[in-house]
Amino acid sequence: MGQIEVGILGATGAVGQQFIALLANHPWFKVKWLGASERSAGKAYQDAAAWRLPVPLSEDVARLTVDQATPGRAPKLVFSGLDSSVATEIEGAFAAAGHFIVSNSRNYRMDANVPLVIPEVNADHLKLLDGQAAARGWKGRIITNPNCSTIVLSMALAPLRQFGLKKVMITTLQAISGAGYPGVASWDILGNVVPFIDGEEEKIQTETQKILGCLTNGKVDPHPVVVSASTTRVAVHNGHTESIAVAIEQTVPPEALIDAFNGFRGRPQELKLPSAPPQPVVYLTERNRPQPALDANRDGGMTVSVGRLRPCSVLDYKFIALGHNTIRGAAGAAILNAELMHREGLL
Ligand code: NAP
Repeated sequence: MGQIEVGILGATGAVGQQFIALLANHPWFKVKWLGASERSAGKAYQDAAAWRLPVPLSEDVARLTVDQATPGRAPKLVFSGLDSSVATEIEGAFAAAGHFIVSNSRNYRMDANVPLVIPEVNADHLKLLDGQAAARGWKGRIITNPNCSTIVLSMALAPLRQFGLKKVMITTLQAISGAGYPGVASWDILGNVVPFIDGEEEKIQTETQKILGCLTNGKVDPHPVVVSASTTRVAVHNGHTESIAVAIEQTVPPEALIDAFNGFRGRPQELKLPSAPPQPVVYLTERNRPQPALDANRDGGMTVSVGRLRPCSVLDYKFIALGHNTIRGAAGAAILNAELMHREGLL
């Protein structure tokens, strides 16, 4: 079978580079088109963006000329790592022109007709695509993956839904790569913690309810869990760490939660999708794990690591979760969504 040609919008950014790295040897998708701003358009990719990942840039991609972010010349399937200040207009124009946009940007995530999907958690929400064309008047489609912190939280909470999730308190310690490139100034982050990430707490609180919600009669009923988030930026390259406390309806022993984390599986594992980790949530028993330096890259960065489960004297239980923000939290998440769509015959 031939490979499916794909494009990348925002190809020069932190997420765009991760797309290029993850797609380098992909069995189904082949990068054929790159789009970015007028600053980069017209240049060979290797001249438009300094390569910042610890894997080699493939020669095919290095030589591709970066195009303007306008529809027409890109393949039908386009991944997007566009800056959110421009994503509404550009992704909308691509979808209107018939492209399938698999987006990392926040702009369309909470739209009632746009799926916000983590394939292990809510693959059925892809059914929202049925009504999207009629609602939006697009020939193409937009599907989104969640915010990088929300993905880690939702993957840690999904195994606990069976116990009746009531309340969640979360404090994040987020890596600097989450702010894109060049991101946070070294003066601001070295030897420091920045206790504010614009819009992040709101995204965690609302996106989590949509992802964990039920699809009924063609719309998502948000999950009633109440989430209270505090977000901070710390001097870590990659990997968002999250301190999470939960209140649940049932009285269950800690072993039941650990079994739920370790036993959690979804459609990607059933379908053996190329980017699916064998075990999407892994509980680590060491008392000082997970740590970004040791655990963010587990299974190619697609696994969420959980540890330090213990009773909480305010809610019921508390634990630490960790995930790679530009892989499971961004490019890898979008690629897994596209793999799922391909296998479900939606592309
Ligand atoms: P970034 O490093 O700042 O990259 C932004 C990209 O957008 C660049 O390729 C840039 O191209 C392009 N761009 C900016 N203005 C443009 C314009 N007017 N027209 C066309 N392209 C334009 O940001 P990032 O961290 O990769 O994030 C990209 C998106 O993913 C954001 O929406 C972000 O919120 C989301 N996201 C990021 C992460 C993460 O961990 N970093 C995780 C989840 C989601 P030029 O180089 O030509 O300027």
